[in-house]
Amino acid sequence: MPSAEIDVSPEVMLTFYRRLYPFKTIFNWLNHEHAPSRLFTHREFAFTLQGDVYLRYQSFNNADELKKQVCQLNPTRFEIGPVYSARPRDKKTIRAGAFSPQVRELVFDIDMTDYDPIRTCCKDAGICKKCWGFIAAAVHVIDSAIRDEFGYEKLIWVYSGRRGIHLWISDKEAMELTDQQRKSLVGWLTAIHPTAKESSKKPNFRFGGKLPPSLQNALQYLKTIFGELILTEQDCFESEEGYEELLQYISDSRTVESLRTKWEDSPSRSSEDKWNDLLRIASSRPNLIPALEDVIIQYTYPRLDAEVSKHRNHLLKAPFCIHPKTGRVCVPLDVTSIDKFDPEGVPTVGQLLQELDAIGREEGAAISHSDWEKTSLKPYVDLLDRHSQGLMDEVRKEKRKDDVSW
Ligand SMILES: [Zn+2]
Repeated sequence: MPSAEIDVSPEVMLTFYRRLYPFKTIFNWLNHEHAPSRLFTHREFAFTLQGDVYLRYQSFNNADELKKQVCQLNPTRFEIGPVYSARPRDKKTIRAGAFSPQVRELVFDIDMTDYDPIRTCCKDAGICKKCWGFIAAAVHVIDSAIRDEFGYEKLIWVYSGRRGIHLWISDKEAMELTDQQRKSLVGWLTAIHPTAKESSKKPNFRFGGKLPPSLQNALQYLKTIFGELILTEQDCFESEEGYEELLQYISDSRTVESLRTKWEDSPSRSSEDKWNDLLRIASSRPNLIPALEDVIIQYTYPRLDAEVSKHRNHLLKAPFCIHPKTGRVCVPLDVTSIDKFDPEGVPTVGQLLQELDAIGREEGAAISHSDWEKTSLKPYVDLLDRHSQGLMDEVRKEKRKDDVSW
């Protein structure tokens, strides 16, 4: 909801970049070690300037250079791209064939927009604690699938500042995936195609009547949240439109007719009552169970924006940027407390600057480079620092191995 408090004016943004943005943290996370490597120096940054001017193929030698340029250009936000075979800023002087994306984090994007056909609490840009439940469910499913099925461990989830979430995976093997490999990995995790959301035809998740293993695993978890999220909080089948959607999953027309009559006659039956009606029928007709499982998957399985993940050269907004519409910081999230996360509790840039002002009055106006430590941004920066420490430990271990091996 727009509010007078949201101030993302150039002056506010500049103060944020100068005093609060954790450039060193971002550097460590992208670079995996203290001394600048190609992972940072050959990395593309893209800036969106005031007035929506887009500046691509920027690159920097270190965190200080990045900070200097950000403070000079004062972008509304900036994005992170792949590591190229040469420095992106030299692109114009390099033969076209010699400039190509080499490695980058494997990224995922989940956006509330793709849940608009099923969520009942908010519309359009709105998001609340209730519909965050869809995102939290998606995070659980994708996080475990990535760890258990693909063996990656270096995952960090970042709230987009409005109504979505990004996942960045920094394992060496994940960074080295080709576009083709990314495409098939995403395909493996995709069950619901957002582009097909308007079609009224019921989805087909099964091959020869059986669910693929990825869905089989996810379903065990999704069954545990379906009741609260879909039946209680969203009450998806309360309206006629809602229960007609549900009835599409039942292929036996006599069952459909009798349920429709029952539900028309007692409009006060909640989603939970209606689901229980179905469960009662299924208890004596087990052939109905796959249809009910399909409903659970359709309403709770992650809806991925696959295009974001398929190409190494896709740009994704940097953590700790400010969402221009909400003024909120794009903060990294702890996956173990994702269910309790409240998007409206994330600090806005205005709030952080007020916190700084309050400290300034107490301590006198000494400006330091890591003023974020004194604000409510601290736990989020600490989270990414801890994550980066894991990446750096990995690189150190690798190097030690190389040292001994000769
Ligand atoms: Zn909502």
